[in-house]
Amino acid sequence: MAREVTCRDAGYDCDFVIRSENEDELIKFVQEHAKQTHDADMSSADIRNAWKTV
Ligand SMILES: [Zn+2]
Repeated sequence: MAREVTCRDAGYDCDFVIRSENEDELIKFVQEHAKQTHDADMSSADIRNAWKTV
């Protein structure tokens, strides 16, 4: 079972999609992307709310 996060679901006009079975790794990558690309700080709770199970 994997988790998927897309920037569009988080409200950004951005084609970034990430999918991983490793939740800690997924959170880290999403935080890095959000910071570098959108200058946004996402908490792990934000990301847990935004991801879907695929
Ligand atoms: Zn993005």
